[in-house]
Amino acid sequence: MPTTPLDRLMFAQGGLCFFCKQPLPKAEASVEHLFASSNGGSNKDENCVACCKSVNALLGSMSLKEKFQVVLNQKGQFKCPNAGGVARATQLRASSPSKAPTSAKSKTDTFSMVVANLAQRGSSRPRTLKTLTSTVASLFPKGIAEAELAALIQQLQAAGKVSISENKVSYAL
Ligand SMILES: [Zn+2]
Repeated sequence: MPTTPLDRLMFAQGGLCFFCKQPLPKAEASVEHLFASSNGGSNKDENCVACCKSVNALLGSMSLKEKFQVVLNQKGQFKCPNAGGVARATQLRASSPSKAPTSAKSKTDTFSMVVANLAQRGSSRPRTLKTLTSTVASLFPKGIAEAELAALIQQLQAAGKVSISENKVSYAL
């Protein structure tokens, strides 16, 4: 039998993230204490789940009530806020026939706008993922959803405009 808490939880969950139910590579996995240990939650398996690091970081030491709210807000389509979740969300949107034409168009416009802005910045382009993320976010004065922002960054990478390794960003604009 697996012996570390993470191994045991992963085994019990069939290798899937507790929240998004996607295959969870061990490098991306972490142990989430449902009732936060900082609030006196126990270390026993009954209080712990294995999940994507990203959602663990998001939930942090929220109260159980707040965590419930985060999960319920996803209305049964829980996506951990990591690259995998975003990619899946994008695929889901792309495969939904209803409002595909308009959203596809405005997405392309948004994407070209971001690319053009980054190209304009010349040598003062953001060099880390963090500054790139905040730079892109600043292009949306009305605000942008975190998932949408992550999708844009991923789109930049997918289009080969940006490559990110070890949080260092380089450009091919
Ligand atoms: Zn997950």
